[in-house]
Parts: sequence; C-alpha cells; structure tokens
Amino acid sequence: ELHQAKKPDWIKVRLPSNPVFFSTKTLVSDLKLHTVCESAQCPNRWECWSHGTATFMIAGERCTRACGFCAVATAKPLPLEEDEPQRVAEAIRRLKLKHVVITAVARDDVADGGALHFARTIEAIRGVDPDIIVEVLTPDFNGKDDPIRTVVEAKPNIFNHNLETVERLTPMVRSRAKYRLSLDVLRRVREMDPEAITKSGLMLGLGETESEIFQAMDDLREANVTVLTLGQYLRPTPQHLPVVEYVSPETFQLYGDIARNKGFEFVASGPLVRSSYHAADFNPVQAKK
Ligand code: SF4
Ligand code: SF4
Repeated sequence: ELHQAKKPDWIKVRLPSNPVFFSTKTLVSDLKLHTVCESAQCPNRWECWSHGTATFMIAGERCTRACGFCAVATAKPLPLEEDEPQRVAEAIRRLKLKHVVITAVARDDVADGGALHFARTIEAIRGVDPDIIVEVLTPDFNGKDDPIRTVVEAKPNIFNHNLETVERLTPMVRSRAKYRLSLDVLRRVREMDPEAITKSGLMLGLGETESEIFQAMDDLREANVTVLTLGQYLRPTPQHLPVVEYVSPETFQLYGDIARNKGFEFVASGPLVRSSYHAADFNPVQAKK
C-alpha cells in the first residue's frame, strides 16, 4: 500500500480572477468544447489562457482506458462529432490563440483511434490562421502505422506523445499502454517525417528512482525526441494513485539541466509543469531559423 505524501508549499494553485479567464470559459462552453485546462483543473489556467495558450480535448470526454493518474472518465465514448474540428478552429480564432495543443482521449473503439479527427482539426485550424503553432498530444494509436501516418501527414508543428512515467511503473500508471510501444510511436513519427519535432513528458513523484528517470531520458533521446517536460504528479481524487513524493523545485531544475546535457533542445521542468505548460515558449518555427 502506497502512502500519500504531504503537499508542500510550492504546490499552490492560483485562483483565477481575471476577465480573460471568464470570457475564455464562456466561449469554450458556448462552442461545446472541452479543454484539458478545465477538465484536469490545471493549476496554470489563468496564466496559460491569458498568454494565448490552451489545450483542447477533441473526440469527447469519455475514454476507453483508465489510467491510474488521469481524471478523464472511463466510459463508452460517444460518436465523433463531424463539426468539432470547425468549432475548435472557431474558438481559436475568437480567442486569438497563438499556440494550441490538441489532444484526445484514447479512442480504442474506432478503427483509426481518432487519427483522422486529429488531422481534420489541424486542417481546420490552419484554415483559420496558417501561422498558429499546432501541437498535438496524441494517444498511442495502439502503435498502428496508418493512424500515426495520418496525423504526421497533417504536419503538426509539434508531435507530442507522453511517456508519463518510467518503464517499471508504466503498467501501474497507464493501464493499457506500454512503455516500449510509446517510444516506438515517437521513433516512427521521426522516421515518417524527419523534419517532425517530437516531444514527450514524464510525471514525477509516482515512486520512480533517479536512475529510472535518467534511463527514460536516454530512451527518449534514442528515439530522437528533442522536447521534454517534467512535472509533479498531482492526485486528481483520492481514487487515483497517491503521490509518493513531492520532488523539490531544485531537483526539478537539476533534472532539467541533466536533460539538456543529454541533448534535449527544449526542456520545461518544474513542479507545476504540465505537458502544455509554457508550450509557447518553445517556438519550433523560430527554432528552425
Ligand atoms: Fe491548459 Fe496545459 Fe496550460 Fe494547463 S498547462 S492551463 S492544461 S494549456
Ligand atoms: Fe486519461 Fe489518456 Fe489514459 Fe484515457 S488514455 S485515461 S485520457 S491518460
């Protein structure tokens, strides 16, 4: 039995009070969209939304999987909504977003895992503004080539797939996912498009050891991943996995430096870092120039 660690001072959630926050909230619900910012009760909402970054969750709010860390409901998903890509694009236009992250639940119930829905969403966003940086945060598509290729060919600026945790803890943390399969997804994205920028992330505090973290970094580099996020795992409800450890801000900083030494070109590492936190600080278009 794992015990829940005590929450330290550096994990503080700033409550939003800014008008931008409320107008964003209204607009998102008017267009019947879902943001991870809201559904995951992300502590960075105020900051991200007022800086033109948001994470939309497409393909519904019901997931076919049940990862031990994730607050998304496990249930039979509803059919995909044909007009959702257009509604996402409309929200982005109205919110004047500059960097959007598009993610989805794992749709193991549909043959392509929702890949075409991702591609159509990228296309709709580009129709609104071709200069918006579009980052996708995808499920593993059960490692199938065709869906991965469908998303890669839609040319997202950044292809993110999270490893979430170290190899040993993967069966406990991510019910149906496999560590090696996730690495393979990332590796294949680069094989399909050598220009693609791949990104991944780990949550810390689930009981992983330092050497396991470094191994995960090495495995990601070996798969040609160049962007890395490291953040503290926070337990969404008492039914979820407990926090084994709160990693200190200094340790996060140290891990960030180590990751850069291992060759990651962009690293965000800190207690409140989420996979999309400060995503806009990394502009792949500028980086290439
Ligand atoms: Fe939304 Fe990601 Fe920012 Fe959280 S870190 S508010 S999920 S964009
Ligand atoms: Fe949550 Fe993704 Fe796991 Fe589904 S597959 S439970 S959305 S982390």
